[in-house]
Amino acid sequence: MISLESGAILILSGPSGCGKSTLLKELYKSIDKYYFSISTTTRAPRVGEKDGLDYFFVTKEQFEEGIKNGEFLEYAEVHGNYYGTSLKPILNALGENKLVIFDIDVQGQDIVKKSELSKYVTSVFITTPSLEVLKTRLYSRATDNNDVIEKRIKNAVIEVESINKYDYIIINDDLQKASRELVGVAQSAMLKTSLFSKDYIVANWLS
Ligand code: ADP
Ligand code: 5GP
Repeated sequence: MISLESGAILILSGPSGCGKSTLLKELYKSIDKYYFSISTTTRAPRVGEKDGLDYFFVTKEQFEEGIKNGEFLEYAEVHGNYYGTSLKPILNALGENKLVIFDIDVQGQDIVKKSELSKYVTSVFITTPSLEVLKTRLYSRATDNNDVIEKRIKNAVIEVESINKYDYIIINDDLQKASRELVGVAQSAMLKTSLFSKDYIVANWLS
């Protein structure tokens, strides 16, 4: 089990269908204290998705009210819907020294990396070995209609252009290998020097 002495943020991005949710389920088996950031979205729930568990599903008006009230650490329009991360639960989880996990798009990663929480952030871009494999996964997952899938594929082609903005990359081909790699990235995320007080560590070391 990995444990943490300071809160940290791990951002996962990557084309819809690359396997982020699948890999996260594997990661949770290895982490002691984590909090998955439940985003708010205006997209309709998929079959099997639950409000407050997968997302907070709201109307466009409710989302725009949240923007006006400054509730979001970041938000973006993705595939024609709003998606955003509420700040308050993130601060609570960091205060409890948890690894806070975000599944957000490349626009969201840009914003969080420039935010006041940047010192906590490690980011990883996850993708399939090829566009063809992504298409196969999206169609065989069968959770979206063809129009939605086509939109996601178009967006994927744009998103992969941003891989250099990330700290790490994982090609999710073999699931077991990619899972091990994600555990490694999570471990590194929790060891960033920026998470620790140098003065405290040095004083302790000298005493
Ligand atoms: P995301 O959360 O990134 O949208 P999912 O985790 O829902 O993606 O994965 C999309 C589909 O691909 C699912 O049907 C999942 O079972 C499958 N999948 C995930 N990883 C792999 C893998 N390494 N090899 C084959 N299929 C995979
Ligand atoms: P999906 O509709 O497949 O659940 O998610 C579509 C995309 O929206 C994914 O790329 C996912 O990472 C992104 N996303 C989900 N939540 C958020 C969020 O809170 N903020 C941002 N910027 N993107 C998000």
